[in-house]
Amino acid sequence: MRVPFVAANWKMNKTLPEALDFIEQIRGKLPAENNVESLICAQSLFLSQMMTAADAEPVKIGAENVFWEDAGAFTGETSPKAVASLGVNYVLIGHSERRNYFRETDEMVNNKVRAVLRNGMKPIICVDETMGQRESNEKVHWVVSQVIEALKGVKAEDAAKITIAYEPSWAIGTAAASAQQAEDGCYLIRQTIADVYNDACAEQVRILYGGSVKPSNQAALMAMPSIDGVLVGDASLDPETFLELVNYDA
Ligand code: 13P
Repeated sequence: MRVPFVAANWKMNKTLPEALDFIEQIRGKLPAENNVESLICAQSLFLSQMMTAADAEPVKIGAENVFWEDAGAFTGETSPKAVASLGVNYVLIGHSERRNYFRETDEMVNNKVRAVLRNGMKPIICVDETMGQRESNEKVHWVVSQVIEALKGVKAEDAAKITIAYEPSWAIGTAAASAQQAEDGCYLIRQTIADVYNDACAEQVRILYGGSVKPSNQAALMAMPSIDGVLVGDASLDPETFLELVNYDA
């Protein structure tokens, strides 16, 4: 059984005091981890303080990105080894904003996925699709190829640690995909994992939908058979809304 997963991606929002205030506001109000796994991905510079503040809470704290080398002359980059040393479990990799604004290629995404696993953390691999690709019917190849490239060199035993987020960039910060559109993308991703590894592996990997998720559309999305959870941007910034999302009515 895959535990439902509700993950926040705060992106480049909040200061340290705001992040700590958020933790105070959700304290004692989160679901048990075996019912719904909850995660907040935040800027790396205050992950440590957030982890200390949330230590006794059933919410995990994750990073939004890391570099693919563990150490060296890479000024300004964030070492996956250093992030792992904080006790961080999850790292978002290949978000469409990284792919689009920072020119991250499939090869970079793959290097980062392997770096996260090498350091004992779990990658949440984001795969993207533009409206143009969707309309030109290329979407199948586009999403499938991002999954295949991201998983190159990843052993089947590590595949169970992976989460994949289907985040069509046309649905981010605009209007969500319909539950059926989201299901189609997530189904296709699970089929791809079965092709790359096997059916057992595909059954273990959690697949999330992301793009304009709110409490009002979450239940319909999460009721879909291929969708195990959601990755939420904007709506996750408000503590009350985050609590609604993690305590959703199945
Ligand atoms: P929004 O929920 O703001 O559309 O952002 C989605 C996203 O990019 C999550 O990673």
